[in-house]
Parts: sequence; C-alpha cells; structure tokens
Amino acid sequence: MRAVALVSAGRVAVLDDWPEPPCGAHEVVVSVRGVGLCGSDLAVVGGERAVPALPWVLGHEAFGEITAVGAEVTHRRVGQRVVIEPNYPCFECPACAAGTTAGCTSRRAVGITEPGLLAERVAVPARFAWPVPEEWTDDDVVCVEPMTVALSAVRTGGVQPGQSCLVVGAGSQGLLTCLAVRHAGGQPRVIDPHAGRVRLAEQLGAVAVTDPHQRYPVVIETSGVPEAFESALARTAAGGCLVVIGQSTQAAKVSTFALVQRRLTVRGCLIYDHPVGFAGTIAALDAGLRPGRVLRGRFGLAQATEAFAEAGGVAGKSWINLVPSPRGSAS
Ligand SMILES: [Zn+2]
Ligand SMILES: [Zn+2]
Repeated sequence: MRAVALVSAGRVAVLDDWPEPPCGAHEVVVSVRGVGLCGSDLAVVGGERAVPALPWVLGHEAFGEITAVGAEVTHRRVGQRVVIEPNYPCFECPACAAGTTAGCTSRRAVGITEPGLLAERVAVPARFAWPVPEEWTDDDVVCVEPMTVALSAVRTGGVQPGQSCLVVGAGSQGLLTCLAVRHAGGQPRVIDPHAGRVRLAEQLGAVAVTDPHQRYPVVIETSGVPEAFESALARTAAGGCLVVIGQSTQAAKVSTFALVQRRLTVRGCLIYDHPVGFAGTIAALDAGLRPGRVLRGRFGLAQATEAFAEAGGVAGKSWINLVPSPRGSAS
C-alpha cells in the first residue's frame, strides 16, 4: 500500500510498498480518507522534532472508515466512519489516574513516537477511533483533532461569553482558536504579521487588532515564535491569563516586574485529555461548529510532497485527501 514518509532529513516521499498493518486484538484497521497537516508534522520534516526511525510515516490528524476489527473489539464495526484520536495515554500513571492524560509520562504520540497515519490503511486502538456521523463533511471531520487542541486552550483560558480574547498568530491553529473563542461565546481578536492570514481570520469572525496598546483578559499564543510570546504577555490585561500552545526551544524574554505587577497567569496547554477532549469536540460539531472553514489547500496523495513543501506558507490549513468522496467540502 502507499504511505507518505520522511525518508531522509527534510525529504518527504510517497512510498508504494509500505507493509499492511496487522490488526491487534484490541485494534481496528482504518482505511484513511484524509489527513490534515499541522505545525508538528512540519517540525518533524524540518528536523526540530526527532523521530525514532527513517523512513517515518507522517501525519496524525486522520479520519476514514473501519475495514477490520480485532478479535476483542465489540463496540466498533466494519464500515463505520471514524476520526482518530492520535495520543494514547498509559491509563496507569498519576497524571492518567487524575484524568489529566495530556500529562501522561508514557503517552504514545502518533506521528512523533508512533508511526503516523498518512498511509492507505492504519491500525489504531479501537477506543481511539471515534465514530462520527456520515452527514458531516470531510472538511469538518479532518479538523476534529486540531479543533480539540483549540477548544482545550479556550477552556484553559476560561473565556467567558461576551469577553474579548486575543489570539496571537493566525496559522491553522490560530484560526481554529478564533473559531473556538466564538464557540465559547467570546469575541476573537487577532494579530499576525501575514496579511492573508489575518484576512482569513476576519472571514471566520475575528477582528484584527489595530491598537498596539490594547490589553485583553485572555490571550492565547499559537505561533510558537518567542517574540510573539513576548508581545502576547505585553497584551495580557492585569489579572488576566496568557495561554500558550505554540512552542519553541528558543528562549523568550519575560519581565517579572510586568508579571507580578499585573498579577498575570501564564499557562502552558498541551493537547487535550482523553476522553473529554474528543467527546467535547464531537458535541461542539453536533451543536453546529464548522472547523472545516479553516481549510484552504487540498492535495491528493500523489501531491503529498508538494503539500508538505507549501503548507507552511499558505494562509489556511492544508490536508491530504487520500480517497476523494462525494461528501466533498462545505466551503
Ligand atoms: Zn496537529
Ligand atoms: Zn499515563
């Protein structure tokens, strides 16, 4: 079968002879229809996130249809449409026992510690294959995982109805965060040096920031650029909360005077917890949230190399559509 892999430093290729995945007793095999691309995939390709082996199958934001179920699986069936939750906690460590599985010390992260999902078929633990309605568009379903990250950040910031929330960075995660702020009843404000991204955020209901001195009760940093963190901190109002989901190993400058005098809270927010994260996103889509609105680039499997090359530069999120379907897109 075909799979998209990092084959050497910085080089992505479509492989034609990748082995079929065996189906474990507690697993399902999913025929993958689409995979979204995100910053962490680009970090793997760029060498900033080390992976255990080469070639390394990329991707972690996938959906498809179940084509086989393991001997012990009773709650999933062949033909079911599913979206994959790509972080498998151990369920045994103190963080897992406390329900904060994002902090699991033995968490298996698909695409980083486990082979990725950009393959025609993948085997995943059955409980991490979430059934989704047939009526939802492919565009919306492919965005469920990053939407979960965005909703988790907004929940961490405690965005209240009517409150304005500044989203720093309008890359794909920033755009989804704007949608998440709106879903929580808040008013998204956005800054990004890229005019095209800001325009797209405006189309999604965010308002571009024009006053450089305006401060906000909740600020969410999505870009991972150290200078953007500094600017995010400067724009957090007294008593406010800065939620950080963008990551960098480069140091950012923080004034402890500003932090103490304005009594700021800074919270790192890593992915989401199982099962509440995905359950919440699926409920939000049921209630009308349409995350597929952030998509702009759609590529076929044969154009995967080009999809990775272009993903960082375009406004909007890109995805690879392995099996085109009549459901198509909403936009
Ligand atoms: Zn992602
Ligand atoms: Zn654990």
